[in-house]
Amino acid sequence: MAQTLSISHVQLGAAEERSVVEVLRSGQLAQGPKVEELEHRFAKLTQVAHAVAVSNGTVALIAALQALRLDGDFEVITSPFTFIATVSAVVAAGGTVRFADVADDFTLDPGCVEAVRTPRCAVLLPVHLYGLPADMGALGTIAQRHGIHVVEDAAQAHGAAIDGRPVGSFGTGCFSLYATKNLTTGEGGLVTTDRDDVAERLRLLRNHGMRNRYEYEVLGYNYRMTDLQAAVGLPQLDRYDETVRRRRRNAAILSEGLAGVDGLAVPGVPHGRSHVWHQYTVRVGDGARLGRDALSAGLRERGIESRVYYPKPVYGYAWCRHHPAVRADRAPVAEAMAREVLSLPVHAGLSDSDAGRIVDEVRGLLT
Ligand SMILES: *Cc1c(COP(=O)(O)O)cnc(C)c1O
Repeated sequence: MAQTLSISHVQLGAAEERSVVEVLRSGQLAQGPKVEELEHRFAKLTQVAHAVAVSNGTVALIAALQALRLDGDFEVITSPFTFIATVSAVVAAGGTVRFADVADDFTLDPGCVEAVRTPRCAVLLPVHLYGLPADMGALGTIAQRHGIHVVEDAAQAHGAAIDGRPVGSFGTGCFSLYATKNLTTGEGGLVTTDRDDVAERLRLLRNHGMRNRYEYEVLGYNYRMTDLQAAVGLPQLDRYDETVRRRRRNAAILSEGLAGVDGLAVPGVPHGRSHVWHQYTVRVGDGARLGRDALSAGLRERGIESRVYYPKPVYGYAWCRHHPAVRADRAPVAEAMAREVLSLPVHAGLSDSDAGRIVDEVRGLLT
């Protein structure tokens, strides 16, 4: 039988081995020159003045909110169609979560924001889901009109852009370097900003509030990344353009091959937005020959892994519904998405013929 095509795949090689061995031999394992190099290079990729490396993407979100020094009972508007960390980070930072529904492209719908905005709203927190930038033009206009901050959950969207402007440069950008993301250090995160004061605050928060040893200027924590992690990430940056090109090519093969299948909607890319295809996600509607879960089971039998990101809007989980800091504003589009979405392999380890095989098997099951 043909080799199983997995939903995610980590490509690490000789360059990463050399880089990690260099750190091991240096004896400097904690935050040091490799972390600094990763920060400089990621700031360049994101076209911002500062990138601050932290221990993971959840911490990136918490630190970004803490660095903005928001008032006591602030609210944050975000998408309910996301990974749980978007929500738990707001709760950890002392905010209250409000949900606005998503649009057809799976990201926060600017038209749904005003309905849940109160005078306490201090932050708009769009999620660039699956690697597609949210509609930052319209969302930025809303934020500006009301004088509220923009924090971007760009955990899945390294290098994605709108009209050439990268995500993470529209507000405070929060990235994850978890094992399955487009760029990985196993665990890791980065916060990006153009504001010098926010970057300085992030660096203090990350290191126990210390600028100089044992002078604790503010309440801080240990949010640091290690040089061992940064050493794994740096060589991936050298070939990241190539990685994204390969993901785009796979997505194009899938979309071309799967067009016109009854009941199946392939993901669109709105004009001006460049997608980095962290996930390639179709919607399996009522008109399809098989339901979403039956399609996924059929693909598994044929050696193709698929996943549901995400099976429920986050307010579908009991703790979210009952937590005083989460307002379970209903989002009917997100609920429909959760019933219909299925992500197919799109990673850079797939060849043209692998992508073609996915097309053939999906078509075989649905037509
Ligand atoms: C992965 C992810 C996070 C959290 O990142 P970690 O590094 O796993 O803590 C947050 N938001 C989204 C949308 C993610 O996909």
